[in-house]
Amino acid sequence: MKILSKGGGKRLYYDGHVHTPFCPHGSNDTFEKYIERAISLGIKGISFTEHAPLPKNFADPTPAKDSAMLYSDLNHYFQKLQKVKKTYKKFITIKTGLEIDFIEGYEQETEQLLREVSPELDDAILSVHFLQIEGKHFCMDYDENVFEEMVRKSGSLALVYKNYFSAVKKSVKHSFKSFQPLRIGHITLAKKFQKLFPADFSIEEDIHNILIEISERGMSLDYNGAGAVKPFCGEPYPPSWIIKEAQKRKIPLVYGSDAHSAKGLGQGLEQLDQYAKLTSPLLLDRAK
Ligand SMILES: [Zn+2]
Ligand SMILES: [Zn+2]
Repeated sequence: MKILSKGGGKRLYYDGHVHTPFCPHGSNDTFEKYIERAISLGIKGISFTEHAPLPKNFADPTPAKDSAMLYSDLNHYFQKLQKVKKTYKKFITIKTGLEIDFIEGYEQETEQLLREVSPELDDAILSVHFLQIEGKHFCMDYDENVFEEMVRKSGSLALVYKNYFSAVKKSVKHSFKSFQPLRIGHITLAKKFQKLFPADFSIEEDIHNILIEISERGMSLDYNGAGAVKPFCGEPYPPSWIIKEAQKRKIPLVYGSDAHSAKGLGQGLEQLDQYAKLTSPLLLDRAK
């Protein structure tokens, strides 16, 4: 696959959102396999951002409880990354990252984890995947059946969106002190099944408010290609009109394939807004 911009020139880019063999719901592709494919695609850098271990007192609502990496694997994950960083130093920039779940009510546990991993971390994405409805947690991007249940339990699709955007906004506004992740993950994940559950309401105001908060804090956006290749979504997270609004507010955009296999690197890139200026991640200042 050639990554070409619409102008025909090669679009050099950084992939800031990549999963790894440590993901229990991903592929077993090795780091080396990801990295070598990235080099062959001309990618200039990668942040490996595995789903960080969930808080110990949080019950993963997915059937196989496989939403995130195991806490007991963390050291091994960091060691492996240190090793590949050295091996591939001359060929590609590799950053050690995590995709951190923002789960309302578990902020303290999350801060504790961030504090613990901070000496190892160069980069981090803060994402919302879990929403609470009537006291029960749901993984909103798990599949269309779970999503349908969420709509039913909430009373309407609009209320699922409200719930999601409210959580995203809280994730932006919450202070994890000096351990703050600097990038907000896939801010329109609620649209993952939009072809099955089309929205007949506007999300402009919610998006507007979220973008203001992101820009005030100098954070950046995960411009995530995975939505574009999801059959029921068909657009990146977020779509172009939001990207335009983000650019008006000078919010940095970091492309993320959200690949869960080496083959997924670069996915959705061609569906991104061709005028969007992609950038490398702002790195955490404790990065070494
Ligand atoms: Zn995943
Ligand atoms: Zn995610």
